Amino acid sequence: MKPEVKQHLKDILGPENFTDSLIDLIAYSKDASEFKHRPEAAVWPTSTAQISSILSLANQEKFPVTPRGAGTSLAGLTVPQHGGLVLDLGRMNKILEIRIEDRLAVVQAGVVYADLERALAVHGFFFPPDPASGAVCTLGGNVATNAGGIKGAKYGTTRDYVLGLEVVLPDGRVLHTGSKCMKSVSGYDLTRIFVGSEGTLGVVTEITLKINPKPLVTRTAMATFADLEDAGRAVSEVMRSGMLPRALEVVDQQTLVAINQNTDLNLPLVEALLVVETDGYTKEENDFQLDRIMDIFRKNHASDVKKAESQKEAEALWTARKSAYGVMARINYNLFVEDLTVPISKVPDMLRAISDLAKKYDLKIPTVGHVGDGNLHPVISFDGTNSEEVKRVEKASEELFKKVIALGGTLTGEHGIGLAKAPFMPLEHDEVAMGVMRSLKRLFDPNNILNPGKMALEG
Ligand SMILES: Cc1cc2nc3c(=O)[nH]c(=O)nc-3n(C[C@H](O)[C@H](O)[C@H](O)COP(=O)(O)OP(=O)(O)OC[C@H]3O[C@@H](n4cnc5c(N)ncnc54)[C@H](O)[C@@H]3O)c2cc1C
Repeated sequence: MKPEVKQHLKDILGPENFTDSLIDLIAYSKDASEFKHRPEAAVWPTSTAQISSILSLANQEKFPVTPRGAGTSLAGLTVPQHGGLVLDLGRMNKILEIRIEDRLAVVQAGVVYADLERALAVHGFFFPPDPASGAVCTLGGNVATNAGGIKGAKYGTTRDYVLGLEVVLPDGRVLHTGSKCMKSVSGYDLTRIFVGSEGTLGVVTEITLKINPKPLVTRTAMATFADLEDAGRAVSEVMRSGMLPRALEVVDQQTLVAINQNTDLNLPLVEALLVVETDGYTKEENDFQLDRIMDIFRKNHASDVKKAESQKEAEALWTARKSAYGVMARINYNLFVEDLTVPISKVPDMLRAISDLAKKYDLKIPTVGHVGDGNLHPVISFDGTNSEEVKRVEKASEELFKKVIALGGTLTGEHGIGLAKAPFMPLEHDEVAMGVMRSLKRLFDPNNILNPGKMALEG
């Protein structure tokens, strides 16, 4: 980046909102994945107009720009792979409107998920996608990755709540999409093109979100299964029973082993542990749902089924699931946290395949997941300084992705493609689909300035 370009950026933003100091650039070279690449500068814009000027300049001078929320991406989406400028949205963090009467909120892209949750709670409302990183990740990041979470089976993902966007296009024009209505079929659905586009088509500056009234009652239960297939059958039966739990989570045997080795929880070493949670507005309604679900668990040979009778007991039943990530981080130095998703009925096949791959390549791949929507998180743990082990990890990952696709699944249900899964895009998308995606990228960003190097868009 030429010195005069840096000066121009300082003129747009004020020198206090620009940095090219090494310590900052090292921080901006990483996200929560194993990838890294250093940018040449980073900026903290505070308005749409500033972002418009920055992108006009970038388009003219042809330097790459990587939008960044909180940098919690697990797949290298936020790593500035081609250098250039990091555009940190963190200072555009105002909740602009909460309109309970219209069931919507309007926010700037840098608002942290948990801050919106706190603001909505006062009104008895919530924003359902609930990513596990909600304490820090931004709503702009959520839109750009179509974030989801534990409540996905009942409430869907970010995509289901975005009514409209303000987006700065790579040439600096400001685009407004969607409406503030619950329904609209007016023109092409431009909003959805940007949801999940990983910062490759435009910079989201303002978001209009649909919000939900918060259910008043939740109920929790847990079941253990000696046999993985039985657990899989139970999940499938629950999800077609008409009962719609807000969470249905699995913890596999390798995770239970890891938890027991690192805590004093002393959990049963079964093939699968399921935790289920219902929500609604009355205790009776919740009990009705949960009792039906527990019947389904028993019918499918659960060895132990427990229902929590208090908040404290509910928290205890969640302990195994909630301690999983902390424990996994202790197993080895490096982690690939995958987020593959299969049709619900294929969950047992996928869990079995993960366990077989771990044995075949002599790796630890503990797995948890949101089985209610078929979304699994196998966590491949390894020592990145051991080149022989890294090769085994690469082979296991490739086989894992091939298996997902063979089962009719998808490479990513939550974290996105980024750098991590770019080489595997053609496994899932044929030439026609890849061609259309690349044409869209060229249409929006002919000079390829926005987050280049991601999603295999440059083929
Ligand atoms: C501990 C942990 C738990 C996680 N749990 C979940 C989970 O349950 N569900 C889930 O879906 N993900 C999860 N993630 C992944 C991550 O938190 C999500 O992808 C999240 O949506 C990223 O938000 P962010 O603000 O950190 O965005 P970043 O990581 O900064 O950016 C992510 C992508 O969005 C783009 N982007 C960011 N802001 C904008 C903007 N304003 N306009 C255009 N593009 C933009 C970036 O260029 C990048 O491509 C988890 C991550 C961690 C570390």
